[in-house]
Amino acid sequence: MQGATHDGSTNGGSTKRDATRLSSTPHGRNLEPFSLYVHIPYCVSKCPYCDFNSHVAARIPEEEYTRALVRELRHYSESEAWADRPVKTVFFGGGTPSTFRGSSIGAVLEEAARLFGFDERPEITLEANPGVVDAGRFRDYRSCGVNRISIGAQSFDPELLRFLGRVHSAEETRQALKSVREAGFDNFSLDLIYGIPGQTVEGVTRDLSQALENEPPHLSAYNLTIEEGTPFHARYRQGLLRPLDDEVEIEMAERIQLTLAQAGLERYEISNYARPGLESRHNINYWNGGDYLGIGAGAHSHHRRPEDPLGERWQNERLPTGYMRRTDEAGHAVTERERPELRQAMAECLFTGLRMIGGVSVLRFERRFGTRPEGAFPDVADWLSGGLLVEDDQRLRFGRQGLLLANELFVRLV
Ligand code: SF4
Repeated sequence: MQGATHDGSTNGGSTKRDATRLSSTPHGRNLEPFSLYVHIPYCVSKCPYCDFNSHVAARIPEEEYTRALVRELRHYSESEAWADRPVKTVFFGGGTPSTFRGSSIGAVLEEAARLFGFDERPEITLEANPGVVDAGRFRDYRSCGVNRISIGAQSFDPELLRFLGRVHSAEETRQALKSVREAGFDNFSLDLIYGIPGQTVEGVTRDLSQALENEPPHLSAYNLTIEEGTPFHARYRQGLLRPLDDEVEIEMAERIQLTLAQAGLERYEISNYARPGLESRHNINYWNGGDYLGIGAGAHSHHRRPEDPLGERWQNERLPTGYMRRTDEAGHAVTERERPELRQAMAECLFTGLRMIGGVSVLRFERRFGTRPEGAFPDVADWLSGGLLVEDDQRLRFGRQGLLLANELFVRLV
């Protein structure tokens, strides 16, 4: 690709814009670098707990879909919101992005480099599922500019993998990780799921130790949630699936944090751990409320002018066929647009910022909304006096107990 080289740095001449001169213009346009999300919606089968926008197709229309992604990029490169802004992070998520060849991923990256240019050291992540990728494909991703891989391991326990409907074995995960390293990726992440019915705290410990044998620089540990509309939810309603008790899940969460901290992986977000300096810059941009452009079926975008406290969000058509048809006709596939109410924008700013262990900047909140968080949400003052929230260095963050109760507290906020 032009712009991003194998180690993720940019080869100056081919980067279209000079990132260092950009911030914002006197006319209020945001010219900061932005994050690009690319949704690849295809999977080889549907996991029974999944409510993502993922689809099983008899034949994946890879070339047609890639052309639609490129069309969308061209459309947005001419819009006021994104023109003249370089890309700082790219995330290929899904679905299963590793169903796509390196040449397709490279075509999207090349077009992004040509139209927008990349920031000095872009973080370019691709999600890969073991069993849906081989060593050659990792090498191809590396040579087209991807510099970070996120592997959906979920568990190393064969029974839990079967229960989760995963198509891969623990051995395939180990093989995929070996190939990731051999392809030259020194930055990669592993996803694990915990709180699975039938799982024990000892089982979580075993999963962690197998994950840590691979020395991941980054690890995400997500609590299994039973989402409406999924086969798991139907089984739950019929009484055939019983979630773990809250106390067991809390014990698991504490075990995860302790074990990963001992291995040098610091918790920087409720579900995310990294060696210092290797946190996901793409996700930090979401949690900080930064701008992101999402392309692909069902992708979400967010854009906010510096002087506007609310911003705007939009979402693409979810069905891949409809998405491709719409981009063909109009260059984009937006079906919903929303400008949040003030209270909703404030709640979201707090909600996402507090997910990070470093918390939310009170000053930034005040500058954006003209009030401190407890001015808008009296609960926040109670949580502060009760120790669920802590304020230091002008930042508001969860205390130990607050982190364990974070989900309940978020619900009360909205
Ligand atoms: S592989 Fe991921 S996106 Fe695909 S169905 Fe399973 S959980 Fe959903």
